Amino acid sequence: MSFTRDHKLKTHFDSLRSLSASTSDSPEASRISNGINIRNFCIIAHIDHGKSTLADRFLEITGTVEKRKMHEQYLDTMDLERERGITIKLQPVRMSYKLSAVNYQLNLIDTPGHVDFSYEVSRSLAAVEGAILLVDASKGIQAQTLANFHLAQAQNLKIIPVINKIDLPNARTAQVKEELSYLLGVEPEEILEISAKTGQGVEKVLRRIIEVVPPPISYNLKPAPQLKALIFDSTFDAYKGVVAFVRVFSGSFKKGLPITTYVSRAKAEVLELGYFAPNLVESEELGSGEIGYVATGLKDPGLIRVGDTITETKILKDQSLKQEDSGFKPLPGYKEPRPMVFASFFPEKGEEYDLLKDALSKLKLTDAALSYEPEASAGLGRGFRVGFLGMLHVEIISERLRREFKLNLIISTPSVEHEVILKNGDKITIRSASKLPDPSYIESVAEPIVAVELLLPISYLGSVMELVSTYRNTYQATEYIGKETVLLKYDMPLSEIVTDFYDKLKSVSSGYASMNYEPKGTAKSDLVRVDILVADELVEPFSRIVPKEKAYLEGRATAEKLKKIIPQQLFEVSIQAAIGGKIIARETIHARRKDVTGYLYGGDITRRMKLLEKQKKGKARMKETGRVNLPQEVFLKMLKR
Ligand code: GDP
Ligand code: MG
Repeated sequence: MSFTRDHKLKTHFDSLRSLSASTSDSPEASRISNGINIRNFCIIAHIDHGKSTLADRFLEITGTVEKRKMHEQYLDTMDLERERGITIKLQPVRMSYKLSAVNYQLNLIDTPGHVDFSYEVSRSLAAVEGAILLVDASKGIQAQTLANFHLAQAQNLKIIPVINKIDLPNARTAQVKEELSYLLGVEPEEILEISAKTGQGVEKVLRRIIEVVPPPISYNLKPAPQLKALIFDSTFDAYKGVVAFVRVFSGSFKKGLPITTYVSRAKAEVLELGYFAPNLVESEELGSGEIGYVATGLKDPGLIRVGDTITETKILKDQSLKQEDSGFKPLPGYKEPRPMVFASFFPEKGEEYDLLKDALSKLKLTDAALSYEPEASAGLGRGFRVGFLGMLHVEIISERLRREFKLNLIISTPSVEHEVILKNGDKITIRSASKLPDPSYIESVAEPIVAVELLLPISYLGSVMELVSTYRNTYQATEYIGKETVLLKYDMPLSEIVTDFYDKLKSVSSGYASMNYEPKGTAKSDLVRVDILVADELVEPFSRIVPKEKAYLEGRATAEKLKKIIPQQLFEVSIQAAIGGKIIARETIHARRKDVTGYLYGGDITRRMKLLEKQKKGKARMKETGRVNLPQEVFLKMLKR
């Protein structure tokens, strides 16, 4: 076995070398030969299976990051990523690796694993030719392993199956290998076994990449190549303007080159270009097959769109502005992300509206899945209705707005999109519970449905099915993968799974069950709006649309949660849940007792009475005007499950 592999490897290199030798006499050709030594790949896996740790080992082995500067999950650069130990952003890095006297340029894109960030994954996949499919030996195949595998397959990527964490005492390596070989239709021997933690077997993975991932196809053949680069991400720099992360498919970038984006028709000159190491390193040229960055100097983040193609201005110049007639074929962009949940963001101080607007446009630049539109509310002023891929996404963006932009926000309870048919026949779409019209105007309300896939070890089948039965669901199918793993399929309203379903699923299955979901149309449901009143005042952001039969429970749960979160006041505060005018739940936050007499030692009883009297008056006054000021923490905590 190892003989044939080594032999194959050798002939592979021989052919590569002869190719580079025969084509290295013109400048154009030398770039092609460079292309032959490039491998672009990403790592896909379920969350926590070790992608970032494997990337760490690659960075070490290739000497990309000095050993003394190395720290765990090096590519997770955001504070939030480091704190939570999850990858939120895709992160590209270029490494060089020498094998059999040939230098290879390896471009890796580390990707997030959580279902909320699958859009990041699809963008990474469009920029590469191969994918390492990493599976945790103790957990086995999980839902996002499957989902990401299907994404990679759809992009025709070369997939390298790797089992990680074989050092763990509870590793089920042999069994996982069997399942993986069944799933991928490959021989078990083709599946590599590694420990990203100890480094065991990791170098073999690098070699396998060079061996089986095809070098980027060069379109630099005749006629003269047109520059075509796919924007797969972008960021903003105060000096460099919008920095586009690109995969060059043909032609090349040089400093000063006038460039235009195909769809948005943004014009710029290349201010700076280079690659990721993983910090930005300037270089002379970015050629066909390479992954790198291009600083545009553009100040308007909205002009650079992920999925758009960058080309030379001279190619599009003098062409009809109508895109179809320009004679230029852009690279296939990839699918627009579809927001699944919406939340309203209002600045606590009205004058911070512009700040919020600016912050959202900057976040949008690094997070193409984010969408937003202005919204106005009578009670809360001007703000934005923001679209997200899921609840974790809402949480992350809220935190980033607070930390990176120092914004104090009022955030509404996230909601899915509802289609409302009115008695007069009009159809309206609402993304905010507070916008639901009075029931007397409503003919019907429809909500989004998703096809849910749950993947779990057979031993948890009973407890997971029991859990699902407590949520609204329509059973679809059961499929077995290997001997130990089962795939359950249900149709469920999206609103059921965006709240706490995922966490509950994890807890009933000791973390082994996993979930993936896809939109599947809408369905009419019996839904009502539950409002929350704090100190008898409607707090619009806490309104929610819920199934009628759950309204009472949901209302009570929200009131109870708020009771724990809202800080005590000097007066008693009531928290009520209501449907229409009818109160369905009530909680009371007792007054905070301030010991106004504490500093008086002993004696003077009249003095003490006077102070207590004064406090009583104060309380009465506050009760009259009793508006409770809800601090931002309350809204952030309400988002957390
Ligand atoms: P990601 O979510 O796929 O990027 O996963 P991470 O790289 O952040 O790893 C998740 C956890 O698994 C971390 O606590 C790692 O230290 C741990 N881990 C990763 N690889 C290994 C391994 O080979 N062996 C062991 N024992 N732990 C590992
Ligand atoms: Mg990671």
